[in-house]
Amino acid sequence: MVLEDESSIRSFIVINLRRAGYEVIEAETGEEALEKLQQNHDIRVALLDIMLPGIDGFEVCRRIRATNAQIGIIMLTARSQEMDKVTGLMTGADDYVTKPFSPAELTARVDALMRGGASEESSGEISQPPFLLNTRNRTLEKNGQRIKLTQVEYSIMRMFMENPGKALSREEILDMVWGRNYFGELKIVDVNIRRLRLKIEDNATNPVYITTVWGYGYKWGF
Ligand code: CA
Repeated sequence: MVLEDESSIRSFIVINLRRAGYEVIEAETGEEALEKLQQNHDIRVALLDIMLPGIDGFEVCRRIRATNAQIGIIMLTARSQEMDKVTGLMTGADDYVTKPFSPAELTARVDALMRGGASEESSGEISQPPFLLNTRNRTLEKNGQRIKLTQVEYSIMRMFMENPGKALSREEILDMVWGRNYFGELKIVDVNIRRLRLKIEDNATNPVYITTVWGYGYKWGF
């Protein structure tokens, strides 16, 4: 689903996604987007513009995430609005593209999220108390309590739990979670991990599960 109020940009996105083989639903306002999402449970990825006439893209993102952890969300941000990117990711988006973007860049981002949501061969459960990751249902529990994760957060958790105690560089994490053909910025790794820490750590400002390896990346270990 493409939410964008400027019709020329919306057409550009829609044409290119259709050319890449996707079925696309369009929305001009946040309210319309939320309504269409409720009617179409097949929607796998939502692209959300931020500046809109009614409720803005951040609010749309927040409302989607209140009930849906699985859908992929990409924010469409304006050039040089660095804060928008971080705010968008902290409200629950998986990724962002900065306008103006190329068709290749756009479809690469959508492809990455579509792949992340695809059902994979399940191997069962990874248990590392207090965490239990179920790779069949793609769910995470901490002390028996379910923690709601986005697709990207789930992929990061799985990567960590499959590599306990190993320092992983931000480049490696980007490759493993977003795929080798993804050409995004390393910062997306940091922002997603910051958000994941808020969900899984007892105290996100003093993380003990996902620890920082200074100047390098992150480590799952305690
Ligand atoms: Ca706009």
